[in-house]
Amino acid sequence: MSDDGHLKPATLAANPPGGAVADGAVVPPWQPATTYTAGGESNYSYLRADGPQFADAERRLAALENGADALLFGSGMAAADAVFRGLAPGSRVIIPEIMYWALRDWLKGGGSGLALDIASVPNGDAAALRQALASAPTALVWIETPANPLWSITDIAETAELSHAAGARLAVDSTAATPILTRPLELGADIVMHSATKYLNGHSDVLAGALVTARDDEAWARIRTCRTYGGANAGTFEAWLLVRGMRTLALRVERASANAMELAQRLSNHADIVEVLYPGLPHHRGHAIAQRQMQGGFGGMLSIRVKGGYEAAARVAGATRLFHQATSLGGVESLIEHRAPVEGPTSPVPDDLLRLSVGIEDVDDLHADLLSALAGG
Ligand SMILES: *Cc1c(COP(=O)(O)O)cnc(C)c1O
Repeated sequence: MSDDGHLKPATLAANPPGGAVADGAVVPPWQPATTYTAGGESNYSYLRADGPQFADAERRLAALENGADALLFGSGMAAADAVFRGLAPGSRVIIPEIMYWALRDWLKGGGSGLALDIASVPNGDAAALRQALASAPTALVWIETPANPLWSITDIAETAELSHAAGARLAVDSTAATPILTRPLELGADIVMHSATKYLNGHSDVLAGALVTARDDEAWARIRTCRTYGGANAGTFEAWLLVRGMRTLALRVERASANAMELAQRLSNHADIVEVLYPGLPHHRGHAIAQRQMQGGFGGMLSIRVKGGYEAAARVAGATRLFHQATSLGGVESLIEHRAPVEGPTSPVPDDLLRLSVGIEDVDDLHADLLSALAGG
């Protein structure tokens, strides 16, 4: 675990110790070099293996998640892929039924070409997980919490205990929670994954992913090899921009969470809304667990189900003025997306669901925008 474990996430994001670099500058320089002089001042050789720009971002990510080491990737999907690619062929993996759609499709749809035995269990269902773990030796349990796009909550500590008792490792996609609200490694997870494209960068201008490990062990070495040989690195400028974005992570996440909570409450009794899905609401199925494992808020993501089904959802998504109708999440600007047409006919997501990535704008303006769209624009 990192020596900076006693410092709070807001400090580690904005101003981690050891952050000052050459000439006393308080921000890191951008170093685009792809190759380094042999026998020179550093141990760096070729950028696909490692470089100072990655190392700077990774040091910050490891401190934020209180992990032993971190690896930066070219996207969240590349980071997740390296975890699965690092497993022995034939390994059994348990994933949730509802999770980030592209990753589920990559694993279950066979497109990845990975020879893995993939089983899925309902999100947050400990009894089903226990049963799945008992039915065959399992290498890895993968969870996402809050899980896109229903924002279902899974108890990380309980899942870690069950997984470890069965000899499996636990990886957590913590993109929606961010290290400001949840630190899965402290709750017993072995690996935490982020789409750094989302909250960590926060400005919708970087594609990147990250893994942080609890231990620098053999499994981690295999993942590192997957990145180095597979060439799944981020660009150096992306790494620099990511660090710049991370400096305001705590402020952005706190504001987005507060806005999302306020909108969830205000929309709960709206006549044209069937259901508001947000873990901060007391009636949400995972609320008690979320309260335990999330600190300082429940995140900036919420979904609403609108009356009138698919057609009504499509109409509302096209009628907002502040909420951009766009995919992705975690930026300072609010986004709205009708998920059904994106995920296709095999998706378990309701037809009438709109996913909102709540930004840091004024909450009254966001509320008025949604009310106007619900009323017909
Ligand atoms: C976006 C996202 C991913 C994939 O990350 P990319 O950076 O788009 O490759 C994985 N999981 C979650 C929860 C995401 O939101």
